[in-house]
Order: sequence, then C-alpha cells, then structure tokens
Amino acid sequence: MASPIEQLTEIFRHFPGIGPKQARRFVYYLLGRPDYDLKKLAGLLNLLHNEVSECRDCHRFFPKNATAGAICSLCADQDIDHSSLLVVEKDVDLDNIKKSGAYTGRYFVLGGLIPILEKNPEEKVRLKLLRERIETDYRAGNLKEVILALSANPDGDNTADYLQATLHHLMDTGLKVSLLGRGLSTGTELEYSDADTIKNALKNRA
Ligand SMILES: [Zn+2]
Repeated sequence: MASPIEQLTEIFRHFPGIGPKQARRFVYYLLGRPDYDLKKLAGLLNLLHNEVSECRDCHRFFPKNATAGAICSLCADQDIDHSSLLVVEKDVDLDNIKKSGAYTGRYFVLGGLIPILEKNPEEKVRLKLLRERIETDYRAGNLKEVILALSANPDGDNTADYLQATLHHLMDTGLKVSLLGRGLSTGTELEYSDADTIKNALKNRA
C-alpha cells in the first residue's frame, strides 16, 4: 500500500494542468498546514457530493439548497431567453461567460472536449444528452440557435466539427449553429478570457 503522501500526490497529479512535481508540492504544502486547516479541508471535501448537485438541464454544478428541485437557478429562471443555447466545455467557462454579462440565454455544460483521434467521443462528453436537449427544444419551437463556445485550440475545433456534423439534420431545417468569433487568439482558453474578449467573441460569432 502506497503511503498517504504518494496516494495524495497521485490524486493531485490528475487535477487539470498539474504535473507530478506540482502534485507533490501540494502534498508538502498541506503537511505544513495546521491540523484545523486540514480538518476543514477534509470536511469540505466530504460536503462536495452531499451539498452540490448537477443540474438536470444544463449539467452545471450548483448548491443543492439554492433551489428546491433538480435544476439550477439559471434553468429555473422563466425570464431567461429560450431561443439560444450556449454550449461550453466546463463549469468555469459558464461562470466566466455569465459574469461577462454578454449572454442572457440558456447553457449546456458538455463536460470536456473531444480529443483529436478519440475513438469513443460519445463516452467522453455529454454528447447524447446535448443532442436530446437540442432536439427536444428545437422541435418544441423554442430553440433557434446553438452557440458553440469552445476554446480556440485543436480539441475545441475538433469538438465543434463533431457537433456540427451530428446536428446537420437540424441545421438543414433551420437551426442555426454558430461558433464564437476568433477574437480569442489561437490557443486561448475561455476560462482565462476577460469580459470584453467574451463580448466581442459573442458579437462576432458566425
Ligand atoms: Zn441548469
């Protein structure tokens, strides 16, 4: 059995953007923290699954007691524009776009991107759920446009290509599928884009 240091390093190593050296640094950082800090951290980790839910409609994570049901406050808001659906890779992208104030429609969190040469894209991200959501909303007459707000990198482009190909039958009957304008310079991640960049990218979508 690996030591707690090794086990924890292994967990941190799988965090986004973290390599083995950084992972080990995190563990030593924690070892240097007072006992009550670690107890607080352990307590919060325990609460994550108990007090946070995944929204049934947009699949973002939200605090369970903020709304009564299985959908988040954004999806429960009746005043929100139902004519557009903005697809993002992850929760932080949604938060960032929402904060920019440039978009007032509905959202869908894909849960990742499809890497180039991926053999099982359907298992990688929420493609089936997204397609069902789009089909239902479009056929109900509410949805007019799907905006793919994916990062400007090869995996983002690959995901956009894949989605456009699978939505082609709806695009033929009038559904608009647009991509963010590339004011986002190549390789830029939405997560790190400021409000003005997001506003421009939305305005220049095509
Ligand atoms: Zn939601």
